[in-house]
Amino acid sequence: MNRIAVLTSGGDAPGMNAAIRAVVRSAVYYNLKVYGVYRGYKGLIDGSLTEMDASSVADIIHKGGTILKSSRSEEFRTAEGRSKALKVLKEHQIDGLVVIGGDGSFRGAQELSEMGIKTIGIPGTIDNDLNYTEYTIGFDTAINTVLEAVTKIRDTSSSHEKATIIEVMGRRCGDLALYAGVAGGAESIIIPEEPGNIETIIAKIIQGKERGKLHHIIMLAEGSGNASDLQKKLLEQADVNARITVLGYIQRGGDPTSFDRILASKMGVRAVELLLNKKTNQVIGIKNNSLFNMDITESLSAERTFDRELYKLTEILSF
Ligand code: ATP
Repeated sequence: MNRIAVLTSGGDAPGMNAAIRAVVRSAVYYNLKVYGVYRGYKGLIDGSLTEMDASSVADIIHKGGTILKSSRSEEFRTAEGRSKALKVLKEHQIDGLVVIGGDGSFRGAQELSEMGIKTIGIPGTIDNDLNYTEYTIGFDTAINTVLEAVTKIRDTSSSHEKATIIEVMGRRCGDLALYAGVAGGAESIIIPEEPGNIETIIAKIIQGKERGKLHHIIMLAEGSGNASDLQKKLLEQADVNARITVLGYIQRGGDPTSFDRILASKMGVRAVELLLNKKTNQVIGIKNNSLFNMDITESLSAERTFDRELYKLTEILSF
């Protein structure tokens, strides 16, 4: 293994830059040539890559987004597209690739591994929706971004004695709503992992209203349904006129937290070390504060676990 490359793919996440930095700096440390590929798999197909050195990644550890840019490439999903990507890698004599992204990006890495390129996946997504790992890079920063918004909405919600529905990202994973909801003292949290709890929430609001409480923060994970539908139900069933705030793409931005920077730094170094040890088709994860690596294929079929204890806290703490 003499030459490796790194790319970021799928949705961007704060901390990706810290991961790129760790891959590049550790490659330099271990005397490897390292390339940065622009725009994920699209750049790999187009041959959009550049050799990087220690100074290429100076002053980026604290920055959100990704200096390598990211994209989604339909062409890479085809055998023809992947052959073009393989050709580019061969032309540059690159035999190891670090892919920072989500499950789709890992599937791409799995395909490349089958074609003879050694691939290692680093989990980078704010959604925390990769089941095999407790945390993904970007999730902690996104919690804090949502939390900042919740704190501000809380002020106005209390002043106007209003119920507010805050819709957060996460797709089918409710972690972002759950963690930010608990940290922000939300009265209700609606996540896909706990289906059918809208009725309970309405009952809770009615109960609160009866004892004179009019403000209520509801964290709604985007995978749990539509904020307008919930708003309608609250009006019809509880005579509560709730406001809606959809946080949207602000959740993807911002300077990474120390947790994400450290996680990204550890994972970036581990990825290069795995390549040096001739490993392929592996992803890196974290469990009980320890890094581990496992087969990509296995990681993609890992069962979803969610922190039910944390969810239960809202029942005890917020009413
Ligand atoms: P996020 O969680 O932020 O959406 P992701 O990595 O899951 O990140 P995707 O859009 O699913 O994002 O995948 C990124 C890219 O990976 C796709 O645009 C495509 O190029 C490649 N990819 C996804 N699935 C496959 C697959 N089955 N085979 C080959 N390549 C794939």
